[in-house]
Amino acid sequence: MSRIEGIEQFKLVKDSNIGFIVFSDDDAKTIHQSKCDVITEGKFASNEGNGFHWFSTIEMARKSFSIVMCDACKPNI
Ligand SMILES: [Zn+2]
Repeated sequence: MSRIEGIEQFKLVKDSNIGFIVFSDDDAKTIHQSKCDVITEGKFASNEGNGFHWFSTIEMARKSFSIVMCDACKPNI
């Protein structure tokens, strides 16, 4: 897995529109398409970058986390 370390890296991931972002909070680990509107710079900043990881595929994410699919961007479709 690769943790997204800072806002610049976060922007690169969003702009590239490649792969998937897993956002972890206390409740769940949710996987999103990198372009998902739910995952914003503001959200990243307000969490100080904690809990954001990038994966190239959903299968790779599953090896690290027990994940649930985002209802908004539906990454598994
Ligand atoms: Zn999403």
